[in-house]
Amino acid sequence: MRAEYREEPCKVALNLVKGMGFKWSLNPYMGCVHRCTFCYVRAFERRADRPSDDRYGRSIRVKTNVAEVLRRELARASWEPEAVAIGAATDPYQPAEGRYRLTRSCLEALRDASNPFSIITRGPLIVRDVDVLADAARRAEVSVTFSVPTLDDTVWKRTEPSTAHPRQRLRALKTLVDAGIRASVGMAPILPGLSDKPELLEQVVREARAAGACGVWANLLNLRPGTREHFLEALADDFPEQLPLYERLYARNKAYLAADETKPVRALVGELARKHGIRDRRSVRLEPEAPPVAEQLALGV
Ligand code: SF4
Repeated sequence: MRAEYREEPCKVALNLVKGMGFKWSLNPYMGCVHRCTFCYVRAFERRADRPSDDRYGRSIRVKTNVAEVLRRELARASWEPEAVAIGAATDPYQPAEGRYRLTRSCLEALRDASNPFSIITRGPLIVRDVDVLADAARRAEVSVTFSVPTLDDTVWKRTEPSTAHPRQRLRALKTLVDAGIRASVGMAPILPGLSDKPELLEQVVREARAAGACGVWANLLNLRPGTREHFLEALADDFPEQLPLYERLYARNKAYLAADETKPVRALVGELARKHGIRDRRSVRLEPEAPPVAEQLALGV
């Protein structure tokens, strides 16, 4: 699939976010060529009046000056170092990053400002930046989450048409953890009837443990308008036998599953994580160094 790349400078790099688990987000690109059928960003695109259907991911905005703008924002006297979430609205390690290196430049800016950040990605290209991540982790809290909803080849290929194999992501995770960087697995989204079978969940947890994941969490599929239409269309083509289940679970345009549907899956993933001993087992832990004693004394005076 050929994508169009639009080189468009930005005025703002850090976005203030409401209603998420973080306050600030950063996205060096807009749009994502991975084009996952379940991508929740399709819903944001729909709300912004941009294509959320099969055209999503065919035109990528490249914020060519994002790192310079970010440096200016981090240098403002009013900026108090707060955690920045990278990759909430696009994969920061999609293929364009190999050429543009914007995510890397942003990490360098965050490292130089000793600013904490987290990254979520499906892109093994992140191992290229292990040097910057390691330096940054010595100065501020840094964490990486690899999205690995399943290791089932059929489900992966049909729902994530352009991502790297999930085993490649686990190999990338191992590289980061071996370098001392905190990296975890996010099993999201888990798809009812497709990737929620106990043996498939256990396979991911077991392999995450083998790769050295410091943690694992799980989330089930949401189908908000924009994501819903595209996902159900793809499901009808790829897994038509599952349609009745989804029509029941997400009936009357329901976007979120009820707690009695999500809780058992999350609880099982929690149990599996305990069973397989998933925890922070890094032999080297890169953590922010305490300020030098002289500096501490000066601050205390
Ligand atoms: S990798 Fe993430 S942002 Fe990209 S299409 Fe898939 S779910 Fe969406």
